[in-house]
Amino acid sequence: MRSVSTRQKLKQSLFKQGRAALAAARPGAAAGYRCPLCLVDFPTPEALTLEHAPPESLGGRERCLTCGPCNRFGGRKLEPALAEAQRQYDSDKGLAPYHVRGTTRLRLAGCLINVRMIADKEQSTFIIPYEMNRPDVHEAFKDQLLALAGGGNVIDQNVQATIDLKTPEIPRDLERSAILKTAYLIAFSELGYSYVLDRAFDIVRRQIAHPEEPLIGMFGNGGPLNATGPIAEEGLWFITEPRDLPGIYVRFGHFGAVLPLPGHLTFYSEWRDRFPGEGKPRIRAAPPSWERPSQRLACVMDYWSHRRRRNFRWPRPR
Ligand SMILES: [Zn+2]
Repeated sequence: MRSVSTRQKLKQSLFKQGRAALAAARPGAAAGYRCPLCLVDFPTPEALTLEHAPPESLGGRERCLTCGPCNRFGGRKLEPALAEAQRQYDSDKGLAPYHVRGTTRLRLAGCLINVRMIADKEQSTFIIPYEMNRPDVHEAFKDQLLALAGGGNVIDQNVQATIDLKTPEIPRDLERSAILKTAYLIAFSELGYSYVLDRAFDIVRRQIAHPEEPLIGMFGNGGPLNATGPIAEEGLWFITEPRDLPGIYVRFGHFGAVLPLPGHLTFYSEWRDRFPGEGKPRIRAAPPSWERPSQRLACVMDYWSHRRRRNFRWPRPR
């Protein structure tokens, strides 16, 4: 956690960078910082908040500013779904023990008790916290265990235990909007307003704000799109295949999403038509060719060169 003054400085710095970037991208715009999610302009930084992308729960860093309502909407509604998806993925792959959220109930020899459960590949551990059970139930359960263990010896009889376990269902629409939001904010923080203020992103912002509406059929589906080789690494990539559907692929952790290039208003419907019903089409991608950008990427380049002149950090091409 950064200290308060470090966070204030970072906020000031991001505000100034964003204000300069907006003035460069939209010379007619009123002076200020534009929330990249709701596009409201803020003349001063007070109402803006530091935004992590990826979310803090996934180890992301504070990358840009968004307004309070947009930040809270993401934090309360979208990101818990993404964090749960990450936990279940890590547990499936044996990367981290799975802490079952909420209460699990364990039935042992007629005694029912609330437990916390932590599962990994090898074993499950049950913790029986005092505060989750009535004291008399807790005592009775302890007596039961001691009786079964024969006063401290190893249990030498079959013990029947039943676990009432519910793995939380992940609301897929919220998870998908959370992935899209993260990819969008990473792209914004790297490419700037020129890129995301393009009309091709209207549908992206609408989808983030209205996860329950199926506006974008497919944009990565939370998975790696069968991405192999270097593009399985985190970063911003330029899609080279399918050749006639170029775009940007943003990868973070094991999540990824495709984003349109400027002016490509039918990008997502073309993707959907190309891969009907397919969750994870195969794609190829390369580091964006910043030296020789395609026609469509040129408007992004304006912003990049502006940033480079001002010594903005640019991610290493990989
Ligand atoms: Zn906002």
